[in-house]
Amino acid sequence: MVHRLRYLFAALGALLPLALSASAQDVPMLGFTSESAAAERQLEARFDGQMNRDNLEAWMRRITAEPFFVGSPHNKENAEWLAERFREWGYETEIAEYLVLFPKPRIRELEMVSPVRYRALLEEPVLADDGTSGVEGRLPAYNAYSADGDVTGELVYVNYGKPTDYEELDRRGIDVRGKVVIARYGGSWRGIKPKVAHEHGALATILYSDPRDDGYFQGDVYPDGPYRMDRGIQRGSVTDMPLYPGDPLTPFVAATADAERMTVEESPAIMKIPVLPISYSDALPLLRAMGGPVAPQAWRGALPLTYHLGPGPATVRVHLEFDWNLEPAYNVIARMEGSEYPDEWIIRGNHHDGWAMGAADPTSGLVAMLEEARAIGVLAESGWRPKRTIVFAAWDAEEPGLLGSTEWVEDHADELREKVVAYINTDGSGRGFLNMGGSHTLERLVNEVAHEVEDPQTGVTVWERAQARRAVSGDDEATSRTDLRISPLGSGSDYTPFLQHLGIASLNISYGGENGGGSYHSQFDSFDHYLRFGDPGFYYGVTLAKTTGRMTLRLANADVLPMRFANFADNVSVYADEVMELLDETRAATERENELIAMNAYALAADPTQTYVPPSATDRVPFLSFAPLRNAVANLERSATTLDSEIQRVMASGLPPAAAEELNRVLMSTERLMTHDDGLPRRPWFRHQVYAPGFYTGYGVKTLPGIREAIEQENWEEASEQIELVSDMLNRVSDALERAVRILNGNEIAQ
Ligand SMILES: [Zn+2]
Repeated sequence: MVHRLRYLFAALGALLPLALSASAQDVPMLGFTSESAAAERQLEARFDGQMNRDNLEAWMRRITAEPFFVGSPHNKENAEWLAERFREWGYETEIAEYLVLFPKPRIRELEMVSPVRYRALLEEPVLADDGTSGVEGRLPAYNAYSADGDVTGELVYVNYGKPTDYEELDRRGIDVRGKVVIARYGGSWRGIKPKVAHEHGALATILYSDPRDDGYFQGDVYPDGPYRMDRGIQRGSVTDMPLYPGDPLTPFVAATADAERMTVEESPAIMKIPVLPISYSDALPLLRAMGGPVAPQAWRGALPLTYHLGPGPATVRVHLEFDWNLEPAYNVIARMEGSEYPDEWIIRGNHHDGWAMGAADPTSGLVAMLEEARAIGVLAESGWRPKRTIVFAAWDAEEPGLLGSTEWVEDHADELREKVVAYINTDGSGRGFLNMGGSHTLERLVNEVAHEVEDPQTGVTVWERAQARRAVSGDDEATSRTDLRISPLGSGSDYTPFLQHLGIASLNISYGGENGGGSYHSQFDSFDHYLRFGDPGFYYGVTLAKTTGRMTLRLANADVLPMRFANFADNVSVYADEVMELLDETRAATERENELIAMNAYALAADPTQTYVPPSATDRVPFLSFAPLRNAVANLERSATTLDSEIQRVMASGLPPAAAEELNRVLMSTERLMTHDDGLPRRPWFRHQVYAPGFYTGYGVKTLPGIREAIEQENWEEASEQIELVSDMLNRVSDALERAVRILNGNEIAQ
């Protein structure tokens, strides 16, 4: 009863306007009483004291000594070595194995057959300055899940190969049907390029790295500098990841030995045309042999030539054949059971497979995670235990399309939905600024931690460096809003199955921006490259471990889980404004264009000696009712602010364990409520209604994707349906937040 009264007063207090900021000083750490916060800070100081940069360097040297792609001998050795380390550090460890489709090339041929003959090299050179550039057993450069094929056609240059690029080609009367397209990397995820090319009738897609985006235009090239050298090639997967990631043959189910599998021909995620990545050294003769109209200014790269669109006269033959084998993927799963809430899990993951030498991607993040796991192991040796269970996961087969993590998540979906509090991901990392991505219910936690980690180069906090960088680049909010916004997550690493399939609050954390690019998915993503340009001395490696280690430890030990909702509501309201503006802008642009078409302006403004096909008029854009969405956002803002201030208030005096437990069950379920069982239109695997990778952008995020993509595709009926569905979802979240407030009022404490 005493408690009940105290909660009642707390509830009344929350109604006073200045309650939120006035009590900010009373709460030293999100979700901890001042007593438990003091203990937590001591623990974190001991954790920091364990950090040893030499470990990171030694482990990276070992892991990257030989290629370790899925199914390679060193990949298996690494998995076993990782499992041994986790066991040695006190974790209950298993290797979870799946059988996944991983094609490897048998034939790779690209030849220009006219007007001049040129046979592409398709190989990266061996460099004296790079110790592993000539290593045995390396995988040739290719795009995984390209189709087999032997086709010949005239070349068309399609810029980044985005849908809007094909509209530009339409204006110039250029059709890619029966042609081979050449697209530069960048502007969208690589898998989108062949997908859109195929939709437009192309026979094959060649992908190349243009030096403007990725090469000498950026800076000195390897080995003088970090940037891509002329014969460097970006490998990578071209599965239709925005449809579903994971094993292309087993969507929704785990790829166990006896799983029911589609055939390669049946899988909708596998590309239907051949796709091949090449260097800019191999692209140069092809682009030089092209004719037709000069490419629009924004399409021109940095090669020494005038860019032409074609078609032809350059005509190329693309011949690709693959061995379509199943390979074992080894996920290493290490658990330390929680002392108080063993059935509440914090999962911390990084993949362990690499395309070639994989030093930056993924080993830089992996070795930081290992040091984090080792340090937590040392704390546990002295008798300490996390309150919640901590699971470390080293995923296999991320590179071909998040296969290891996705299959494991599909295998354990029910248990994970029930037990996981949050998933924290890392991947490639380097010298520079803190990159914060994730669920906005964790935005406060991320900011709190960033305020407590020191930047190794300047001695200020990593938060201050991130803030300064944003402020200097013109982001006014960086100096006016209390917290730096964290980026919404699209896809591109192993958080995707957790966040977007199951609705588990997730984070993706890295450092970078001062490490130069250029080695990405090439043979030169090597130990030597990383040591010189990635993070010399591994100062940012241990900074990453301190950052994600704090997040893991705070989530594991908090009295009340550190999810907070005012920041979430604020971000959602920004996204809601954006989709409403998108509709208005689309309407205005359509009206303007229809006017210009009626005036014949496009034709009259064009050079009469050049082919020009004016766009045709389109239907008017209707007004849609956003009232349900506006009401739902207002509702969410109210309930979120009330709950946050309520939690803050009760934390000052502590919370009875039964109430805390009940409250935590609600807090960890909120992200689950942001999913819809049927998924997004035409892609049921993706269920999150706030964040999704764009259907036509790939890794790039679309927030409120159901509404946003319906407007972009001008599907007004679907847009209206999605406004209703998203509003219902936000109202479900608000209901949960109100239930949490009632628990704090003492009305709903479980018996
Ligand atoms: Zn990676």
